[in-house]
Amino acid sequence: MKKREFLKTSAILGAGTLIAPSIASSCMNSAAQASATASLVAQGEDGLFLQPELGYAFDALEPHVDAMTMEVHYGKHHAGYTSKFNAALEHADFHSTDIYKIFASVSDHGNAVRNNGGGYYNHNLYWKFMSPEGGGEPTGKLAEAIVADFGSFAEFKDLFSATAASHFGSGWGWLLLDGEGKLQVTSLPNQDNPLMDVSPVQGTPLLNIDVWEHAYYLNYQNMRKSYVEAYWNIIDWRFVEALYEEALNA
Ligand code: MN
Repeated sequence: MKKREFLKTSAILGAGTLIAPSIASSCMNSAAQASATASLVAQGEDGLFLQPELGYAFDALEPHVDAMTMEVHYGKHHAGYTSKFNAALEHADFHSTDIYKIFASVSDHGNAVRNNGGGYYNHNLYWKFMSPEGGGEPTGKLAEAIVADFGSFAEFKDLFSATAASHFGSGWGWLLLDGEGKLQVTSLPNQDNPLMDVSPVQGTPLLNIDVWEHAYYLNYQNMRKSYVEAYWNIIDWRFVEALYEEALNA
């Protein structure tokens, strides 16, 4: 079953790379959309959470994110969150295998579940939001919603960048769809995310950026703003659009 999960994940990643972005956005059917959220979590038959395949080489995002950062970030930091998340669930005697239910009641299960569960899932998202073919701007319904809720793509970009760059300490910048169907930009500390019951702003994550120093320090040192600016060159808007369409239809 572990092997089957792996093959399923690989097939989804493979399909994504075979479809040219312009075709993918215009021909996105419900089956392709369903795979966007499904591709975010990998689990073994025992319910243990697994790291999804990265889907590109460690050096594929250069010069915006360097290979050493990717190797350590995915291979050490994210791997650590993954194993500690599984251990924390075991320790808390909390055996749900539905990560969305875990986040919805995370305040009941201690900081190890909260911190490592967020660390596991937030990075799963982050790897998918980056692509060597990324950059540019969103299209379709998402582009329209960004204009409706922020005024323009440029205004959204400025708000997201400023929010992420100015977040004090470790955390993440987020774009999310709230319960009223509005897009919101926020930042959250540590490994919290908008799916958690502890988050002051809740909704479906559509985009994030890791602003822990381990995400940029090797290449950018203290210049978080430069890393945030570079992120716009690698954002996979086709994936963000797919998550948005799914959230609208949920
Ligand atoms: Mn990180």
